[in-house]
Amino acid sequence: MSYLQNIFVCSILFSLLISCDVKKDNTPQMNLTLKKEDFGRIGGETVHLYTMENGQGVKVAITNYGGIITQLHVPDKDGNIEDIVLGFDSLQEYLSDHPYFGAIVGRYGNRIANGAFSISGKNFTLPINNGPNSLHGGVNGFDKKVWQAQEILTRTEKGVELSYLSKDGEEGYPGNVHVTVRYTLNSENELGISYFAKTDSPTILNLTNHSYFNLRGAGNGDILGHQLKLYADQFTPVDSTLIPTGEYQNVLNGPFDFTTQKAIGKDIESENIQIQYGGGYDHNFVLSKNSGELKSFAKIFEPESGRLMEVFTTEPGVQFYTGNFLDGSIIGKKNKPYKKQFGFCLETQHFPDSPNHSHFPSTTLLPDEKYHSETVYKFSTL
Ligand code: BGC
Repeated sequence: MSYLQNIFVCSILFSLLISCDVKKDNTPQMNLTLKKEDFGRIGGETVHLYTMENGQGVKVAITNYGGIITQLHVPDKDGNIEDIVLGFDSLQEYLSDHPYFGAIVGRYGNRIANGAFSISGKNFTLPINNGPNSLHGGVNGFDKKVWQAQEILTRTEKGVELSYLSKDGEEGYPGNVHVTVRYTLNSENELGISYFAKTDSPTILNLTNHSYFNLRGAGNGDILGHQLKLYADQFTPVDSTLIPTGEYQNVLNGPFDFTTQKAIGKDIESENIQIQYGGGYDHNFVLSKNSGELKSFAKIFEPESGRLMEVFTTEPGVQFYTGNFLDGSIIGKKNKPYKKQFGFCLETQHFPDSPNHSHFPSTTLLPDEKYHSETVYKFSTL
């Protein structure tokens, strides 16, 4: 080939290369970023804050103290951005007493009656920290641990992977349990939470995240006007200490019926004894009795802002809690008090007190099993 021919072939190859590059540039840009900052110190150990942004207005901040989601910024229908989770500005405030704002809850999300259960005839007792019962893993649960953290940096997701070894006997639970929780944000405005665990001897495990949402913005009033659609035909009624009676109750046409969209506040003052026990909604809704598939189970729409949150889970249940015990005594971010029903939780989980109800989906974890559960919160506007 002559010199000129060579130049000609090279320039064709070069323009082909360029056009390939141009094609590459046309693919949607993933403006996903992750920032790691110091959030404070606990007993000589530095705790960090991991902030993920997706270039579409969604920003989430997570600390490795308690795996707490401290901020979740989401645009409204006009592009105005608000932080829609209750919580605090500083680590110091998270170290004081608060009702699990944004935290990972474990080993056992929700209540175990009288703090007692058995596995294969062996009895275990847990700390009593809620009336006569044990709640959310005891006095010093996963929400109060400093987790090991590793950044997740893929092309399509940014996030943080948290891990914690809960030693045999911690808070009364058997088995050395190694837990990993992965939080990820993608450019589809999806915040994903994946939970994994292994144990070295038979135990029970029921992990969840305890974020309180207010789609008007944290501290900006109550959540009673939010419209909820919850695909659950049944819930598990409770006694006066909020322990399931063991029955399944149909929701049809009653205050617990959200199978067609309804304002959260519509029946929240009902005389219904279950609503009275909870002081509002504080109940486990039955999503499935055996699934394990990631399925959409709820849509929550806030009419003023146009914000819509859709939630997916592999879990068989969800504790729908309407922040009934908030009373304005906690002052949160931007100095705003969190009053009664200023936030709602959708705690995806197995049913409360399952170890004492053999017909509920099992929460037993055996050494040859892998614990795995997923929940996704997806944000958009209408
Ligand atoms: C429980 C509520 C409790 C709240 C905060 C929810 O999961 O069901 O009864 O007040 O957590 O601890």
